[in-house]
Amino acid sequence: MNCRFCGAATGDPVLQLGAQPPANSFLTAVQVREVEAGRLAEPRIPLDLHLCSACGLVQIAESLPPETLFSDYIYLSGTSDLIHRHAERVADLAEAANGSLRGHLVVEIASNDGTVLRRFRDRGSRVLGVEPAANVARIATEAGIPTRVEFFGEASARRVREEHGRARVMVARHVLAHVPDPHGFAEGVAQLLAPDGLFLLEAPYLEPFFSRTEFDTIYHEHLAYLAARPLRSLFEAHGLALVDAHPFEIHGGSMLYTVRPAGATPQPSIAALLRRERELGLGERVTWERFAARTGQVRARLGELLESLGSSGSRLAGYGAPAKGNTLLCSLDRGVSALAFLVDRNPWKQGRYTPGTHLPVRPPEALAEEQPPYTLLLAWNFEEEVLRQQDEYRRRGGRFIRPLPWPEVIP
Ligand code: ZN
Repeated sequence: MNCRFCGAATGDPVLQLGAQPPANSFLTAVQVREVEAGRLAEPRIPLDLHLCSACGLVQIAESLPPETLFSDYIYLSGTSDLIHRHAERVADLAEAANGSLRGHLVVEIASNDGTVLRRFRDRGSRVLGVEPAANVARIATEAGIPTRVEFFGEASARRVREEHGRARVMVARHVLAHVPDPHGFAEGVAQLLAPDGLFLLEAPYLEPFFSRTEFDTIYHEHLAYLAARPLRSLFEAHGLALVDAHPFEIHGGSMLYTVRPAGATPQPSIAALLRRERELGLGERVTWERFAARTGQVRARLGELLESLGSSGSRLAGYGAPAKGNTLLCSLDRGVSALAFLVDRNPWKQGRYTPGTHLPVRPPEALAEEQPPYTLLLAWNFEEEVLRQQDEYRRRGGRFIRPLPWPEVIP
């Protein structure tokens, strides 16, 4: 394939996870019956990880048409307590960097249900969300957060600028990695951002992905695995500069980058980040061959552990039905049959079945009702929150299995 950022040929993949169904394509009971009877085929698309040795971008080859990804997208920010606290920090950071935001326009790209923009509105900003998923955009609009239902890019940025003027602050959390046209995205930011404006970009960071072997976060919607080096080149090509970076322990280790129009002086954090990426060899093939080897060991060990814990005949459960949980389950050669069901707080997933593995998704209360002896923590990025909420299940002897960075039972 050719690199999404710089166009260079990437050569052979560094990791292959096999052909997997799209990680968010949950099935209804009727669809599961049709698939299992052979009357309906679940789409399966190869999941291959590539490294661009030219600019350092780690990425996947295949992509799905964006309409299939977003038209009925079922991730809701507001279903997690952690996200509410984080949204407050994002607004604090914008204010610390750019002063009072009262009366200024704040635009969020992929604003989801408006959880983040609400913080800015409460501080007196004019807010506008741009969100392609009509169902979640409606939730935001009903909650008083004006939201346009469209994909963000150059054309969308121009329309927003004509109607509302330039934005003092722009926010994009966990979206750039999903964008098939990153240059259109960066150009859109350049078109809409005020000269003294601030763009806050949050994305999963490549270092924890690498060092904790977070291979489950590889799925078709997640096109790029971002580090500072390729990002800096992408923004430079559009007259923007990476000026600061704050690591956050969210979604398995994320970075909140500050981007400003070119000419702004970068903070020492940027040079430090680039140096660290070089020292770790994150742009080198041999590094990712090591990652692939570790991924193989984790997959084998987790399959073995689930199989042995389920061998007494007791069925296990899984906590969370995130997209990454589906990559993890679809990557196992054994052990999945030990699981009876998953639980998830998102009401949209409850009553549906996981793609590929067809496990029913139930509300979290099902854990205390069924009291399975072990529960695989698929939403491992919410470990602290889940353990606290499931105190009763744990007091009655239930144990969680942490799959990564190495599969183990949490004491
Ligand atoms: Zn490249």
